[in-house]
Amino acid sequence: MARHLITSAIPYINGIKHLGNLVGSQLPADLFARYQRGRGHEVLFLCATDEHGTPAELAAAKAGRPVAEYCAEMHQVQARIAQGFGLSFDHFGRSSSPENHRLTQHFAGRLAEMGLIREVSETQMYSHADGRFLPDRYIEGTCPNCGFDSARGDQCDNCTKQLDPVDLINPRSVISGSTELEMRETKHLYLCQSQMKDELEAWIESKTDWPILTTSIAKKWLNDGDGLRDRGITRDLDWGIPVKRGDQDWPGMEGKVFYVWFDAPIEYIACAQEWVRADKGADWERWWRTDKGADDVTYTQFMGKDNVPFHTLSFPATILGSREPWKLVDYIKSFNYLNYDGGQFSTSRGRGVFMDQALDILPADYWRWWLLSHAPESSDAEFTWENFQASVNKDLADVLGNFVSRVTKFCRSKFGETVPEGGAWGPQEQAVIDELTTRIRAYEGHMEAMEVRKSAAELRAIWVAGNEYLQIASPWATFKDDPDRAAAQIRFALNLIPLYATLSAPLIPFTADLMLAAMGIGAKWPGDVTQALERMPAGHGFAVPENLFAKITDEQREAWQGQFAGQRG
Ligand SMILES: [Zn+2]
Repeated sequence: MARHLITSAIPYINGIKHLGNLVGSQLPADLFARYQRGRGHEVLFLCATDEHGTPAELAAAKAGRPVAEYCAEMHQVQARIAQGFGLSFDHFGRSSSPENHRLTQHFAGRLAEMGLIREVSETQMYSHADGRFLPDRYIEGTCPNCGFDSARGDQCDNCTKQLDPVDLINPRSVISGSTELEMRETKHLYLCQSQMKDELEAWIESKTDWPILTTSIAKKWLNDGDGLRDRGITRDLDWGIPVKRGDQDWPGMEGKVFYVWFDAPIEYIACAQEWVRADKGADWERWWRTDKGADDVTYTQFMGKDNVPFHTLSFPATILGSREPWKLVDYIKSFNYLNYDGGQFSTSRGRGVFMDQALDILPADYWRWWLLSHAPESSDAEFTWENFQASVNKDLADVLGNFVSRVTKFCRSKFGETVPEGGAWGPQEQAVIDELTTRIRAYEGHMEAMEVRKSAAELRAIWVAGNEYLQIASPWATFKDDPDRAAAQIRFALNLIPLYATLSAPLIPFTADLMLAAMGIGAKWPGDVTQALERMPAGHGFAVPENLFAKITDEQREAWQGQFAGQRG
């Protein structure tokens, strides 16, 4: 039995995520976790909400709530939606947890001891009226480039020009509206990533099996311009993890917090500690400390391409720089973007389908199937309602749903709701067994390689093989002349249902559960396919399940197209 530590990039707390976010990390991570569990391996699958930073403060202010309360509530909301999608986290933690506070402070202290932290004096906008420094997003003013009057301190949303707060004409505080701002000196801590460039580069070079998407982004950051730059790890904010050197105060850093990019990945480790605190596990160290048993763990991270720099460089710099025996990632699976119907998903404009809305209109497995079978792996992908409708109707309803329905209903009408006795399998069945053996081994290969689209395509071909068998064997015709032969055919076809459920569970877990419940049998990963198709012998009782999938009508498709075009209501 192998041991798999699996993490999904942690979603930011400020609101509900859209389907593009889902398919970029959490969903493929869940696919891999479910697959490895299905193979009988030990899995620890962790995710959390990323709760610190300016956007959380601003979202809370907009909602008129204290930021801690806002985060606690949004964490519940995101946890409930994740459950609705069947995301099988062993723990869904919070980057604001006490565990992450302690661990982040520990890493900062340790990095300082190792000579990898330096203090930098810089100037930043200070607001007299608010009595605080204002990060970029807390400052608005007129864009020097296009004249837009609500450009943010870091970027103009109108012309997309990257800005510094000092560039803005008539800058004002987003909090109070005050224009009494001045540039004032402040001190920050920087992580000396540049000192670790050679070590990080050698580590990335050693990962010859990683996706090109992952390594090319890492190498670009390592070598572009001046190469890997030192990075600020502290901010003048209230909400966050107070800057401490281990458990000691850090002179000169009073009132400051760690920058969210520094504490967020450390939450992967803290989350395992939270998992123990929640009494779901006994020992987090055997997953994370190579001196405590984690050296035989395979650690895989899932994320969108925008998160690759932090996971290939910054977080490894934290881990390696500590010179402590923490587990480093073994494989990073990264994704391109999913676009929405001729444009981009937009959280601010409510364009596209958001996770809560998706579950309001259709069951999770419909979305899981489409998203995984169209995962943006080698390039960006696009969601269109036409494609979604075709995929659900053809793959799920016509292929898998139809197969289960025809077999169980025919059996009930001719033999009753038990696996029929009589006859024996012949060359037709053997041909299917041979095809399935080849395909299942290919499916396993794609899953091990985390080739998401190829896995889905192979699974579909496995379903198709059952339908083709039904067409050729034609038990309803056979039954008239040779009921024994028809019984053997139906016994064979019925046994395909739990096999299909087991193989399909990583992609469509809810449907797989329904199929297994109807068949009155548990999941069992098929080693030898002949044996796998003898699990339900003659006399084994089953129930005819409700239709597994309803087709999406043209009227529904058109209504949803209009509903999700923009301006979320
Ligand atoms: Zn502008």
